[in-house]
Amino acid sequence: MIDLHCHLDLYPDPARMIAQCVERNTYVLSITTVPKAYRHTHQLASGATRIRTALGFHPQLAASRTSELDLFESLLASTSFVGEIGLDGSNEHRSTLPIQRAVFRDILDLCEGAGGKTISIHSRSAVNEVLQSIAPHAASCRLLLHWFVGTPRQVARAAEMGCWFSVGPAMLASARGRASVAAMPPSRVLPESDGPFASLRGEPLKPWDAWLMVPKLADIWGKQDDEVERAMFQNFRSLLSFGIT
Ligand code: MN
Repeated sequence: MIDLHCHLDLYPDPARMIAQCVERNTYVLSITTVPKAYRHTHQLASGATRIRTALGFHPQLAASRTSELDLFESLLASTSFVGEIGLDGSNEHRSTLPIQRAVFRDILDLCEGAGGKTISIHSRSAVNEVLQSIAPHAASCRLLLHWFVGTPRQVARAAEMGCWFSVGPAMLASARGRASVAAMPPSRVLPESDGPFASLRGEPLKPWDAWLMVPKLADIWGKQDDEVERAMFQNFRSLLSFGIT
């Protein structure tokens, strides 16, 4: 199984969660939310060959953690994976957008300067602005749009730019989420859980629960579950063969 966006360090017992991922042979892109969390989170998974840790700076925390930008910069050379970064224009976080923009722009420039990274991107209520911000970096970075809810036109713009999309069962529980996914090119879609933030029927999702997206995606695409499973592994291989690992 594959989970391209999961906050392993935010479960009550991260070490146990990692051990369970190893037992289940689950590939996980472990997403952090602040630079200070990176070292420890990376360390916890150091023995797990199917887990990679991304260096993050969540837009919802950009204003309170701006002082960690120097730490972000000093850690960047140690990983090929960055995230979660992005912009959040929802009511609760709109007031910090000026700081979010500055942090997002700095990080994208740092990634570009480092020769490109694989980046997991948050775009809630800020889709157009995120697309505009990442466009200049599409040639050097692998852009993985997480929980991307856009119009068919916005999805098409992202796909033309070369973006990938990580899609989870919680996103597919909403009609807007399903409409967004229906517009995505099947060759660019990958599974995510967004656990433990995302939940289904009141239960926080675990990394292997990302796979619950398969039957839902099969419905949308009019395919069999096993065809979708094969497509997810094929997409995963082609994402990782892009150059940087
Ligand atoms: Mn997330």
